[in-house]
Amino acid sequence: MLVVPERLIADLVSPEDAFAAVEAVFAAMASGGAYNFPVVREALGEGRQYGFKSGLDRVGALLGVKSGGYFPGNGERGIPNHQSTVFLFDPDSGQLKATVGGNLLTALRTAAASAISIDRLARRDAKVLGMVGAGHQSAFQMRAAARVRPFDKVLGWNHHPEMLPRLAETAAELGLPFEAVSLEDLGAQADVIVTITSSNAPTLRDGHIRPGTHLACMGTDTKGKQEVEAALLARARVFTDEVAQSVSIGEAQHAIAAGLIREADITPVGAVINGTAPGRQSDDEVTLFDGTGVGLQDLAAAQVAVTRAVERGLAVEVAL
Ligand code: NAD
Repeated sequence: MLVVPERLIADLVSPEDAFAAVEAVFAAMASGGAYNFPVVREALGEGRQYGFKSGLDRVGALLGVKSGGYFPGNGERGIPNHQSTVFLFDPDSGQLKATVGGNLLTALRTAAASAISIDRLARRDAKVLGMVGAGHQSAFQMRAAARVRPFDKVLGWNHHPEMLPRLAETAAELGLPFEAVSLEDLGAQADVIVTITSSNAPTLRDGHIRPGTHLACMGTDTKGKQEVEAALLARARVFTDEVAQSVSIGEAQHAIAAGLIREADITPVGAVINGTAPGRQSDDEVTLFDGTGVGLQDLAAAQVAVTRAVERGLAVEVAL
């Protein structure tokens, strides 16, 4: 078994690597060559969450699981609150092949997913990026979005305004002007909006969003979370990483429960990548990507880390 520790990931996996790996796995999922197993997520008490995301990709020869969760209070231990590790198995024999640090990989593969949606679904002439959310993931999201469209401005809003400097600093790093604005102004000006919060109630309303906007809703990955008003999903063309997760733990759970959309109204973005479903069909339509985060994204990104680590002689071999 190979071990690729967390501290090596930043040098081994680039955002471009993550984008390519996630795009390939979304395509495999949509063509039926890959599927995710049901997500296990348990509350451990005292705010701790723990779970597993796993799947099989016959096309990419991936089998494995990401195990991890959220452990508030880790700041006192000097480690991040989000903790995850990816285990890769040989899909033929079931033998454990690699153990890979999963914290940075999670951020890279999540940002890659929204960037893929922007690349495939946003208007080509999109110029203004709106960010709702200013937590750990937000910087990764902004950087990935800026790789797929030549934005000339970033607007930001956050429930906790004291966190907004993170967005300003990331925009500065990208050489883009940044403005903290109201949700009304953000919706009125943004061509692309990324939401990445742990909100339990809608922040963005249908009325905030102008025609032609693309939204990548990335924060809702659990039952009960919600970032945008359900009516917005009824107006938009809705895309997702995986329909089964979208309707159960994603943003679409609320629009489905309210009878505003049907499961059949949701398109896997992999089908757009494969050319079997249309992407954006007019400059006026609102497109919305419900990014729920699938295990196969983690396995694909971890496989890149293993391949690079082996190429560079950095993987630690442990006898089983
Ligand atoms: P974080 O704790 O660093 O930041 C949380 C963000 O949510 C901040 O912007 C905070 O201001 C905001 N927020 C908190 N409570 C809120 C409320 N009541 N209303 C509105 N906003 C609120 O978290 P992070 O690591 O940046 O992750 C953000 C979200 O993304 C989490 O919900 C996480 O579970 C989710 N996530 C999704 C995926 C995926 O694949 N879809 C992957 C990783 C993380």
